[in-house]
Amino acid sequence: MFYPLTVMDFLDRAVTVYPDRTAVVDEPDQPAASWGDITYAELGRRAKAQAAALEEWQVPAGGRVAIVSQNSARMLASFYGVSGWGRVLVPINFRLSAAEVRYVIDHSGAEVMMVDPSLRHLVDEVGCKRSFVLGDDDQQIWGSTAEPRPWIGDEQATATINYTSGTTARPKGVQLTHRNNWLNAAVFGWQASVSDRDVYLHTLPMFHANGWGHPFAATAMGATHVVIRKIDGTEILRRIEKHGVTYLCAAPAVVTTVLDAAKTWPGDIPGSGRVRIIVAGAPPSTRTIARVRDELGWEFIQIYGLTETSPLLTMSRMRAEWDGLDPHQQAINLGRAGAPAVGVRLMVDDEGEVLARSNHNLASYWDSPEATAQAQAGDWFHTGDGGTFEDGYLTIADRKKDVIITGGENVSSIEVEDVLTSHPSVREVAVIGIPDEKWGELVTALVVLDSDEEPVDEPTLIAHCREYLAGYKCPKRIEFRDQLARTATGKLQKFKLRAEFWSGHDRQIN
Ligand code: AMP
Repeated sequence: MFYPLTVMDFLDRAVTVYPDRTAVVDEPDQPAASWGDITYAELGRRAKAQAAALEEWQVPAGGRVAIVSQNSARMLASFYGVSGWGRVLVPINFRLSAAEVRYVIDHSGAEVMMVDPSLRHLVDEVGCKRSFVLGDDDQQIWGSTAEPRPWIGDEQATATINYTSGTTARPKGVQLTHRNNWLNAAVFGWQASVSDRDVYLHTLPMFHANGWGHPFAATAMGATHVVIRKIDGTEILRRIEKHGVTYLCAAPAVVTTVLDAAKTWPGDIPGSGRVRIIVAGAPPSTRTIARVRDELGWEFIQIYGLTETSPLLTMSRMRAEWDGLDPHQQAINLGRAGAPAVGVRLMVDDEGEVLARSNHNLASYWDSPEATAQAQAGDWFHTGDGGTFEDGYLTIADRKKDVIITGGENVSSIEVEDVLTSHPSVREVAVIGIPDEKWGELVTALVVLDSDEEPVDEPTLIAHCREYLAGYKCPKRIEFRDQLARTATGKLQKFKLRAEFWSGHDRQIN
């Protein structure tokens, strides 16, 4: 028998098996009225109501529905209310500027946009066909009592499109099917031992690679979701204590925030001996890993992957053979990106680029056949990361693509360069990432000014970027240069420009 894998399998199971269990503890402190604690039966009801509303608005199966929001129970429900009935959820980074959101809405062809109340200006500035403000418009989105038409599941249908900044000037839409999301969630849940005893804290933004698949994996097991809206180390510790959280995911910058907060936390660290933290987005340092284990008493797990791979490709977790090693060596071992997850094949090509095959690799980039063909040349997904694959373990040491990762979010150097060169006083520019203790990498622009134009200073150029780009993409530092290193053919030699900032580092990424 063939029975299609769809994300509704996860919620349907939780509603059937754990109807009275708390499904979601919503963020109490948010501009919309908090949903408080809701059960799986209620989450199922709200997802169904949302599907009925979309049907009333005549959004067909395959129609795109965008959401721009900080983490919230409403956003979690939308993974099911939208995708569970065959429509496509487009979760958008809430930090993007109105122009950037408009691009995603237009490019994806989204006919509905739901925004957090703090982003209500987007309703006018973006101009989507139908726009709603979460909270204000709850009755319209979640008030229907009609029975939506069931969707004949198709595992190859697109479930989500996540826009990610990469090597092109504009973000690309990563089209993930139900099958992609299903298998990522299943393998992730399996290897990270997600069970019905888990309480998952959503420190990771749900828009980012669908929260790495946790709206699916945790639901499937009937685990409880705890929503947190803002990243604050002390608040993370408080929520862990209050709700008995057992696991969370975080970029290294968030781990550092928690470690800092732990220094002044009175008494025992919440979740010590119980919590497992899954880290990815950038390589965590051996010291960070050791501190998580020593100072917090939490299990440290690293994964590696991309939005394009749903994201799980590898996992680094303690294994029996390492039990007898000293903690420092254990931390070194855990510092590798990890061993291939079940169903993932890896290889490193002659240029040192990591290639991957798996059932959670993207179907394609939305409406970008050329980018898709390039990324999947030779039937391998080209990660753009440089590394080595030895003894079953992958180590990421370098980035082949022109992408900066700051605080766990990708920034396309080209996108920032485009905006800077649109300023009349800028003649040439190179945008690079330089190592930074807090953010991992700091977006830095090396600028050559046009001597025929009005001179400009650093704050003016940063303000210019802020008009067009999300704050996290804007350079935090600008250095003025007389010229930039180029090859004989005029191509920027970014590795030379980066070298002065990265000397003394064993990896070329942070
Ligand atoms: P994104 O698609 O925004 O999730 O970004 C994916 C990129 O993050 C990868 O291509 C890597 O460059 C980086 N990345 C993710 N996990 C790790 C890791 N464990 N170690 C090093 N880099 C990572």
